[in-house]
Amino acid sequence: MFTPTLFEPTRTPFSLVAGKPERLRDSHGRAITDLRVSITDRCNFRCVYCRTGNEGAQYAELAHADYLRMVRLFVSLGVEKIRLTGGEPLLRAGLLDLVREIAELRTAFTPEPEPLDLAITTNGHLLATLAQPLKDAGLTRVTVSMDAVDPETFAAITRVPRSFDRVLAGIRAASAAGLGPVKVNCVLLRGFNDSQIEAFAEFSRREGVVVRFIEWMPLEEDRSWTREAVVSLDEIVARLDAYRPAGLGIPGLVELPPHAASETARRYTFADGRGEIGIIAPVSQPFCGHCSRIRLTSDGKIRTCLFSQMDHDLAGRMMRGASDAELARYIRQVVHGKEERHHIGEAGFEKPSRSMVHIGG
Ligand code: SAM
Repeated sequence: MFTPTLFEPTRTPFSLVAGKPERLRDSHGRAITDLRVSITDRCNFRCVYCRTGNEGAQYAELAHADYLRMVRLFVSLGVEKIRLTGGEPLLRAGLLDLVREIAELRTAFTPEPEPLDLAITTNGHLLATLAQPLKDAGLTRVTVSMDAVDPETFAAITRVPRSFDRVLAGIRAASAAGLGPVKVNCVLLRGFNDSQIEAFAEFSRREGVVVRFIEWMPLEEDRSWTREAVVSLDEIVARLDAYRPAGLGIPGLVELPPHAASETARRYTFADGRGEIGIIAPVSQPFCGHCSRIRLTSDGKIRTCLFSQMDHDLAGRMMRGASDAELARYIRQVVHGKEERHHIGEAGFEKPSRSMVHIGG
């Protein structure tokens, strides 16, 4: 619920509707309901399309109490979904306590206060033992990044030997713990893992997970991104539409309706309804018009878009002693200025000031 200290109607013309505080909204009218928080800049994988493999963590981590205060503020302003990410969030000591505390927060703008949708995005390497404790701490969902279902290709991408079996065990443990349906995110790179598309469909059907293919975005640490290397939504749909899953008489994808207008993935299944494939196409079919997201980096900077050219220093203001009311006002101002859309593929596109691993995907 809104705490009295946050409710300061002065100097924030966009914070009041009919005398009541308005939920967080940008200047394009989009309600911001989804916060991604990076809780560490460290990662134990060196995925070829994400990191150079030479650099370690580049940005600081904050104390859990600091993330918690920021999350509380965002929730009091209308955020209802929190996703912890990184870096690799499972590397962070004290993670279970943080999850437990966030899970106690309640929505501020629903008719009745409700628990948040609290998720984690992880590479799954440490998930097998943490899945059940995370569920017990109050986590709702987990998304595991997995870019191949063939162990050798997987190790070539992550540059960590024998990593596949551990991630698979993590996915199964998450399903068993009730953190499902587990989403498995796969970034396809032409000539690298695009041979795995059909095998991923089988994986989804066999394991009961939602496989989501994500178009590769120019957010890598080095300058390896090219438009040609991106495997587009149209190509993935064509491949899967022509595919006949094992034990099924007919080929063909069946499109599923979106869960919500802001859903980023186009969803499909097969004729027998087994397996679910999502395709997220920020490059070939951008969905910025429905963006409800905002991000906090591990060092406490707000990023209004993955492709922003600048950060907004929330942590700095906190450390200098700003009150909750001042911080809430600052958040409203920053969110107000959220970019209308990204410009991938357009003339003059500039790479953002941070790469994906240092923002939090
Ligand atoms: N370590 C965690 C993980 O592996 O899920 C969280 C951080 S990781 C940066 C979050 C997600 O970003 C992963 O699914 C990864 O595949 C994706 N990712 C990284 N670089 C990307 C890029 N350039 N384009 C699209 N997705 C990217």
